[in-house]
Amino acid sequence: MHVAVIGAGLAGLSCAYELAKAGHQVTILEKEDQVGGLGRSWQTNGYWLDYGPHRFHSRNEELIQHLYEVLDNEVVIRERLSRIYMQGKFFNYPLKLGNVLTALPKTIMVKAMWDYMWIRMRQWFKPIPDDNFENWVLKRFGRTLYEIFFGTYTSKAWKMPCTEISSDWASQRISQANLWHTIKTTVSPPKEGEVRSLVSEFWYPAHGGIGQICRKYAEKIVEMGGTIRCGEPVEKVIVEDGRAVGIQMAEGDPVMADHIVNTMPLPRALESIDPPVGPEVVEAIANLKYIGIVFVYLEVDTPSVSPDHWVYLPEKHLKIHRICEFKNFSDHEIPGDKTIICCEITCRIGDDDWNLTLEEGARVAENDLVTVGLLKPGTARGIELKRITYAYPVYDLTYRANLDVLMKSVRSYEGLTTTGRQGLYRYNNMDHSVAMGRKVARTLLKGKDAGADKVAAEQEYFG
Ligand SMILES: Cc1cc2nc3c(=O)[nH]c(=O)nc-3n(C[C@H](O)[C@H](O)[C@H](O)COP(=O)(O)OP(=O)(O)OC[C@H]3O[C@@H](n4cnc5c(N)ncnc54)[C@H](O)[C@@H]3O)c2cc1C
Repeated sequence: MHVAVIGAGLAGLSCAYELAKAGHQVTILEKEDQVGGLGRSWQTNGYWLDYGPHRFHSRNEELIQHLYEVLDNEVVIRERLSRIYMQGKFFNYPLKLGNVLTALPKTIMVKAMWDYMWIRMRQWFKPIPDDNFENWVLKRFGRTLYEIFFGTYTSKAWKMPCTEISSDWASQRISQANLWHTIKTTVSPPKEGEVRSLVSEFWYPAHGGIGQICRKYAEKIVEMGGTIRCGEPVEKVIVEDGRAVGIQMAEGDPVMADHIVNTMPLPRALESIDPPVGPEVVEAIANLKYIGIVFVYLEVDTPSVSPDHWVYLPEKHLKIHRICEFKNFSDHEIPGDKTIICCEITCRIGDDDWNLTLEEGARVAENDLVTVGLLKPGTARGIELKRITYAYPVYDLTYRANLDVLMKSVRSYEGLTTTGRQGLYRYNNMDHSVAMGRKVARTLLKGKDAGADKVAAEQEYFG
């Protein structure tokens, strides 16, 4: 069997790796000049840089063993340290609402309790529907906590009001049922057999940034006889009699295959179908949007800025929404007297933030970090600015209906499977993309559905 894979991120590479291991022919077509996708690393001034913080974590033992296999055991294990800056203080993250409540000024705490009781009483005579993110959270936590914990960061990162964000986002992201449940779980001891801890350990390549995982996959695929063609964007997916049979790039002959696995953004994949998809699909494609990210990399003249892997900055007076410090992950070839901070700014493609230059971005980042007390003025300089267009799919109020149209369309083609974060328009993590890619390979090898679509369907993260 010859399988053509679109995209050399974790989903595409993990799929191709399993197929090549089973003795099948694979050809990967990748738009960029390097493998890795969102999980890519590259070198600037000799330092390994990633797209923000990337921790590989999973409770699946077999998946962790697979990671060791791919990385030839060159893996480090880290205990996650992350914090959030709110109201002039740093709190450990993930937030333990109970702990934060006690750290907040008493007046705010009393207001939060009052709001919560009021909203619960209101449910009896005028129920609030679960029709958007804001209402979903208000109903369960009251207005004060909504504003402090949930609304500010979400609307800042999404660049839109929370009333326009789907409640799917809240139900997937907020694990606790309501404030009363939070208080109960904070003060009561766990029941026998109850697991409350969040995954705090993570795995990371010992050298070369997170991108080492994809580089190792690529190396092994090529060793097994597979082909990886970087710098070759797919322009057309050739369909004959309802079956996807090949891929056409900007130049050269098409790559014909027995099966095509897509991991590029789903709307773009459907736009490449030749003959073109119908008007209903075109309209749904136009309605699906993305949030982009600008990454500003600062070189700082100090051995360390913080012990954290990353820090969230949710407040709106700061432009940056998250920073990370690569030295705390593993060896990024950064000398002892310096550190590198990656600062993220979410944007709508083409807005003012999207168009920031390195000089402007570095100034904004430095100002924010001085404001929160992490940097001394004049100690940092910008060394790189990167933009990614397909960072986060926008879950607005109509996304589900539009996505259903796209999924129905893509599933109507024989010989074509779409998977991974981009291929499914989903907020999944690296481990999910690897699990999906491998499940698709298993499906193709066994000839029956291994359920790749269901990986991470219930667990999405804003990562
Ligand atoms: C800022 C940020 C932080 C994150 N942090 C974490 C974290 O801490 N932990 C975690 O587990 N996950 C994290 N993630 C998620 C993780 O990066 C992704 O889940 C994972 O890398 C997705 O892999 P993928 O292969 O599914 O998609 P991608 O990596 O997006 O791969 C798709 C590939 O398709 C290629 N492509 C696009 N168009 C074409 C075309 N026309 N022709 C050919 N190729 C094309 C792209 O170049 C890309 O290489 C984070 C994501 C972001 C944005």
